[in-house]
Amino acid sequence: MRAQVLHSPGEPLRQTELPEPEPGPGELLLRVEACAVCRTDLHIVDGELPNPKLPLVLGHQIVGIDVETGSRLGVPWLGWADGECRFCRSGRENLCDNARFTGYHLDGGYAEMVVADARFCFPIPEGYDSVHAAPLLCAGLIGYRALRLAGDAARLGLYGFGSSAHLIAQVARWQGRRVFAFTREGDAEGQELARSLGAEWAGASGEQPPEPLDAAIIFAPVGALVPVALRALEKGGVVVCAGIHMSDIPSFPYELLWEERVARSVANLTRDDGHELLELAPQVPIETHVEVFPLEEANEALDRLRGGRISGSAVLDLAS
Ligand SMILES: [Zn+2]
Ligand SMILES: [Zn+2]
Repeated sequence: MRAQVLHSPGEPLRQTELPEPEPGPGELLLRVEACAVCRTDLHIVDGELPNPKLPLVLGHQIVGIDVETGSRLGVPWLGWADGECRFCRSGRENLCDNARFTGYHLDGGYAEMVVADARFCFPIPEGYDSVHAAPLLCAGLIGYRALRLAGDAARLGLYGFGSSAHLIAQVARWQGRRVFAFTREGDAEGQELARSLGAEWAGASGEQPPEPLDAAIIFAPVGALVPVALRALEKGGVVVCAGIHMSDIPSFPYELLWEERVARSVANLTRDDGHELLELAPQVPIETHVEVFPLEEANEALDRLRGGRISGSAVLDLAS
């Protein structure tokens, strides 16, 4: 099968011919139809996440067809959890001590075929073609978890208006929240997309919103945004850092945290998050804006994501 393979962090992916993977007990063999590109893929390629499987097939927002049954399934970032540790036993499998992640510890979807543990696959809602469903599987799921951790905030700021934010803005609007979008300075296209999806205000991340925010979710991997977002918060507000990696957070005066403001992260997903979001998606309905690339152009898709030159989500299309 054709695959894009990471041999060593810091190097581009290489197009490689690999043997078809063989499913073990409890695993499914899926023919990949689409795999969305996540910023986490970039962190792995850039060596910012420790100890990836090598060589590695990236990709953890996979939509594929089960070759046995013909059903269409999604494979998310959480590829396996032990079910036994104290986190799993308390409904927090996202924090499992022994979790294995797709496209990091396990080969992922930048390939024609993938194997996945059946227990961690999700049915894909009808009404979404595979290319448009793929971004729901991480950008959607983890964004949704971050939104939940933002509590019942009425005025929500989204820092970094890319793959995740463009989906979560729609859910937030549907829930009746007010959305304020922050992009890189001068990103007129991102701000326009934000407004078209219901943000009532869009500006550069350094700007103060017209009103204080009850919560902010930071999707950009930029630690300097933590004090910036805290400064935009109302008393009792929360800043949720939604990325798996961030540059260092600069020091800031205690007054930014005072009055019960909270700064926290969100890690991974539980299967409950996945089922909930995928059930919600067609009700909203969440529209995914995609830029499609053939498998061979995975490096190009990653480079454009790195440079902030993707509108919505980048998706590798393996079906056409
Ligand atoms: Zn566990
Ligand atoms: Zn991801």
